[in-house]
Amino acid sequence: MSVASGSTATATTVTADTRTGYRGRFAPSPSGALHLGSLAAALGSWLDARAHGGTWLIRIEDLDAARVAPGAADTMVRTLAGLGLESDEPILVQSTRRDAHEAAFRQLAEEQLTYPCACTRRHTAAGPYAGTCRNGPQGQPPWAWRLRLPATEQCGFEDAFQGLCQFHFQQLGDPVLRRRDGLIAYQLAVVVDDGFQGITDIVRGADLLDATAWQLQIRRHLSLPEVRHGHLPLVEGPDGRKLSKSESAASIATLAPGEALVEALRALRQSPPEGLSREPPGVVLSWATTHWNPSVLRLTEKPEVQFDPF
Ligand code: GLU
Repeated sequence: MSVASGSTATATTVTADTRTGYRGRFAPSPSGALHLGSLAAALGSWLDARAHGGTWLIRIEDLDAARVAPGAADTMVRTLAGLGLESDEPILVQSTRRDAHEAAFRQLAEEQLTYPCACTRRHTAAGPYAGTCRNGPQGQPPWAWRLRLPATEQCGFEDAFQGLCQFHFQQLGDPVLRRRDGLIAYQLAVVVDDGFQGITDIVRGADLLDATAWQLQIRRHLSLPEVRHGHLPLVEGPDGRKLSKSESAASIATLAPGEALVEALRALRQSPPEGLSREPPGVVLSWATTHWNPSVLRLTEKPEVQFDPF
């Protein structure tokens, strides 16, 4: 993928322009406690929504029961509320939306856009899916089901923070829509639910930058309205490594609310003044909204293309 060098996020400060209809969201998978990376994603999406006078929602992405930690969703929501980050509308729990996900899968299947795939994780771990089963499954069921991408095309989109991002579909491979275990995959469910909730602006971590190309393609096939994306730099440890969830979860739990928010602001490359971390969450959030500066979020290095997990 390439992040174009031209600048789109030129303003140093976004003033509340009350762009009509902005609807943002934070969509965590409840696989554990909130950590600094997920808090930064929550805060970044909240700040961008608020700076635009928009609505901000929380959606719990709990489709993969094996990855759901008991009680984690409640704990996350409670932690966020303690930091002043509350959903403006009732929280949507993704596992209540299975019928809609199934209907979307059927629609794509009826349009001959899906195909069964016998390849296992072992076949695809080293790189993008090579399309082995495009002309028929090369093995016995159970099969996963993939979306047939136009292999020769590329997908480009203007990211609110990263500028023009371009991917060749061949670089990504066909994404899984239904896993071998029958579960609808994240790539499809997220698009269906963002559409259902009328999300206009998706602000999330840059680890999902390449998945955006897949999701835009799925979105078009389902005739859902266009959305804007903004991808945030990932939180790094002092040695420049991506922080593991357990490392940074531990740190959030021990911090006072103002300190946790200021840590997340620093992770978002904002410049909170000395002493802000001792203030209550409302004061920190008010400062952060007024001074929200997305122009510093541009990545200097292109992130590794992630391959489709299934
Ligand atoms: N549920 C996904 C995760 O926690 C994020 C989904 C999204 O923001 O699109 O990684």
